[in-house]
Amino acid sequence: MSKQDRSGTGRPAVFIDEESALLIAPPEFADRTPRLRPHAQAALFALAAHGYSLVLLSSQAGSRLARWSAGEVALHQQQLLGLFQEDGESGVTDVLSCPHLPGLAGKPACDCQLPRAGLLFEAARRHDLDLDRCWLIAGGKRTRRAARTAGCRSVVMGSGRHADTNDLMQAAKKILRKHDPVQGMVSA
Ligand SMILES: [Zn+2]
Repeated sequence: MSKQDRSGTGRPAVFIDEESALLIAPPEFADRTPRLRPHAQAALFALAAHGYSLVLLSSQAGSRLARWSAGEVALHQQQLLGLFQEDGESGVTDVLSCPHLPGLAGKPACDCQLPRAGLLFEAARRHDLDLDRCWLIAGGKRTRRAARTAGCRSVVMGSGRHADTNDLMQAAKKILRKHDPVQGMVSA
């Protein structure tokens, strides 16, 4: 996909990787309420209030989603979306999952597992997103690589040297500090 195809007049969005940024721990059972990190709801609602579409990603190699049936994945996604309802409306635009098993040594075996950016491109295509104005929130060094590939910016979650923050509200604030309310765009 060319650079020209990726940028334009589309909407800004924030992609949040479920397992490395949104949940405290990978859920063991599809029918249980997923356990969110502290401030997850407030952080995502703050981003939505500033005009960002929210797209949840399940893009980790070795995700339990690869072991679950399609029905279990759908049930889990419903549970997750239920946590981001406000006034009967979902604050989340979409949930995209990688259904593939990882390759050798947990390496990505498909284009949707980070650091590959297949799910980001897919979300942009589906929802007319402008990747130049999008952000990826995920854990691990591969976050920056995936964001660079897609042409968006990143917040790396974690407590290590390479991480930006371990708190989702701080992640949202980092994004909103770059937000230009007049143009509805991120500033340079
Ligand atoms: Zn995949």
